[in-house]
Amino acid sequence: MADPVLPSSGALSPLGLDAVRLAPGFWGDRVALNREVTIAHCLDWMEREGWIGNFRGALPRRGREFSDSEIYKLLEAMAWADHPGFAELAQTVVQAQEGDGYLNTRWSGSRYVDLEWGHELYCYGHLIQAGVARLRAHGEDAFTEAVRKAADHVCRRFTDTTETCGHPELEMALVELYRATGAERYLELARRLLERRGLPALGPIPFGAAYFQDDLPVRQATALRGHAVRALYLACGAVDVAVESGDEELLKAVESQWERTVARRTHLTGGMGSRHADEAFGEDFELPPDRAYAETCAGIASIMLSHRLLLATGDVRYAELAERTLYNVLATGVALDGRSFFYSNPLQVRVPAQPSQEINLGHSGGLRSPWFAVSCCPSNIARTFASLGSYLAAADPSGLRIHHHTPAVIEGAGLRVAVETGYPWSGGVAVRMLADGHGRLSLRVPAWAEGATLGYGPAAPPQGPDAPAQGAGASPQGAHAATDVAARTRVVREATPGYAAVEGEWREGDVVVLDLPMAPRWTFPDRRVDALRGSAAVERGPLVYCAESAAGEPSLTDLSARLTPPAERTGPSGVVELEIEAELTLSDTAGWPYTSRPETAGRPDTSRLETPPASGTRLRLVPYHRWGNAGPAAMRVWLPAAD
Ligand SMILES: [Zn+2]
Repeated sequence: MADPVLPSSGALSPLGLDAVRLAPGFWGDRVALNREVTIAHCLDWMEREGWIGNFRGALPRRGREFSDSEIYKLLEAMAWADHPGFAELAQTVVQAQEGDGYLNTRWSGSRYVDLEWGHELYCYGHLIQAGVARLRAHGEDAFTEAVRKAADHVCRRFTDTTETCGHPELEMALVELYRATGAERYLELARRLLERRGLPALGPIPFGAAYFQDDLPVRQATALRGHAVRALYLACGAVDVAVESGDEELLKAVESQWERTVARRTHLTGGMGSRHADEAFGEDFELPPDRAYAETCAGIASIMLSHRLLLATGDVRYAELAERTLYNVLATGVALDGRSFFYSNPLQVRVPAQPSQEINLGHSGGLRSPWFAVSCCPSNIARTFASLGSYLAAADPSGLRIHHHTPAVIEGAGLRVAVETGYPWSGGVAVRMLADGHGRLSLRVPAWAEGATLGYGPAAPPQGPDAPAQGAGASPQGAHAATDVAARTRVVREATPGYAAVEGEWREGDVVVLDLPMAPRWTFPDRRVDALRGSAAVERGPLVYCAESAAGEPSLTDLSARLTPPAERTGPSGVVELEIEAELTLSDTAGWPYTSRPETAGRPDTSRLETPPASGTRLRLVPYHRWGNAGPAAMRVWLPAAD
């Protein structure tokens, strides 16, 4: 089966990428754009920057010490997308491999001398994930053979040592290679790498051992900490090892780390990471909107972790966070044309960025860049979109479970269905049976969707008197719905957040309709998030909204928003924009931004206004993932609330 994550056990089973065919729609369009544009874009830039040339032995070597990993992530994307460029790029990589399996264009000749920063094992991790993708999507070839040879080299070199890599990633890759090949040595090395981390296994660095999660063993941690991508990749590996080893204690440890991290260290968008200096999680409730780091890769890694925990436990909360992060980090990370990317995803940008040089070395400032000096995010985006189908649905012991609603044909657990929906712009989701079948169909009802309904029955009048009965699912509200559906009349019932299920004998043409209320809603932060106190944000469905202001438009620096229901405006492409009432002011700078007179604190100094307050101004809000597509702009998600 072709799928990036195939655990041997768990509450849910992946369906495989072949079983989820995306149709035009929010995600289908982006997956197609990725295949047609983004993959080639990444390939061009890697060639142009000399990172592919490194495998041909070009001198001097170019790019950072981990640039090999970008080629591997692109190969993974190409393997899942069945991209015609795979064979040539794979061949370029393979011919750089040394006789004993060693493969790295930076450290060849001085192997493993800097495990803290060298990223050699990290690069093998991405190489192995690309190899697993090729193996599952295509089968054995010269590339997969080279990948196994590299993995065997790593096993020989690292199984019986106390060393590990400064950047986790190899752990989950080795478990997946074990799953794909059955070779126990890969699982064993993954387990050992995981257990030796935090003993500690690495030398001291200025950021401290927590930066690379070497401050304490993974089982003892209570929250994700340090470099966000490292922490999340390590947690992915821990779930994989736990699942394959039947290690309940380890799985529970990661679940509680996830829980605490989501409760205290996650931005509204699902973004993770608050500190720029070390790309790290902050302390609990350290979630400043303008200093949010929220690297695109951390969002992807969070989706990967939630996916693994969802498969292991079936707990809907993991699908909830994945959806939030898919729509508000992954979708934000790439421009609508598929050719430029955000590295960090702050929730406020105070000043429109200067259209920068082509390579945005600083990878910040609110403008998507076609490439970066550290270009981990574009290729990560490419491989995630290329395998996006694997996140959308799964099989449980009773039938088919759909986590994310987007137009697609899905086949699994004995059912074959077409999902038709304008989600996330509209809340109606129709799931049509494409064939007769038997089993339970479960549709996720998001936590915000209070008042959702589920309707089911035949699309057309019944064809005969002996039409089979359908029962309602697990929801208590469903009890009455088991009323005589033998007549095959349509039934509509309440659908509470979680999974709404319908089961029974299905006939081709039967339709289940989930109706999710999509009214925009104001969202308020926990009072302990100091940086957000007094602010509110607007969400609609799974989307976070933001105000956006280009150069020359009114500044968003000094505004107060009225918390009345936002008005909706649907554009020609179906995109829903919102409008709220706000007061925008433009204060002159006072001599001192603090006061001992509380009655004036937080209010514009009217004696210093450059323009009179624009009271009752309509402020346009756009989906956060679309911001910055029309050029440099200021932006903010959290809006100071008027009294
Ligand atoms: Zn990145």
